[in-house]
Amino acid sequence: MDCLFCKIAAGEIPARKLYEDDLVVAFHDIGPQAPVHFLVIPKRHIPTLNDLSEEDRLLAGHLLFTAQRLAREQGCEEGFRVVMNCNEQGGQTVYHIHMHVLGQRQMHWPPG
Ligand code: IMP
Repeated sequence: MDCLFCKIAAGEIPARKLYEDDLVVAFHDIGPQAPVHFLVIPKRHIPTLNDLSEEDRLLAGHLLFTAQRLAREQGCEEGFRVVMNCNEQGGQTVYHIHMHVLGQRQMHWPPG
């Protein structure tokens, strides 16, 4: 499958990995939008948030708890932001779901 994040998950394309287990991988974003900006992805190919199903409840929770733990480890005790973009209008550019975790700067609302 020609998917960038599947290739990163498989180790076929290099990435600055922060964490990996059987289900998820976390790595630094190549174009950071904050001093801390990493992505948490499932190893399994799921194109968009709309493709998550009831059977993925544990996986979805695992993505979130991984983001929480790594944000703490990256020094984001003051706060951080978690973002998932879904489809074109949601600003998604890579069609393999990923949780952005951004921190170490003041965030603003609304996002662009
Ligand atoms: P999206 O716009 O929510 O789909 O986010 C995709 C993210 O993937 C962007 O923040 C990109 O900077 C990031 N990205 C694209 N290619 C790579 C890569 O090869 N390594 C790490 N991050 C990447």
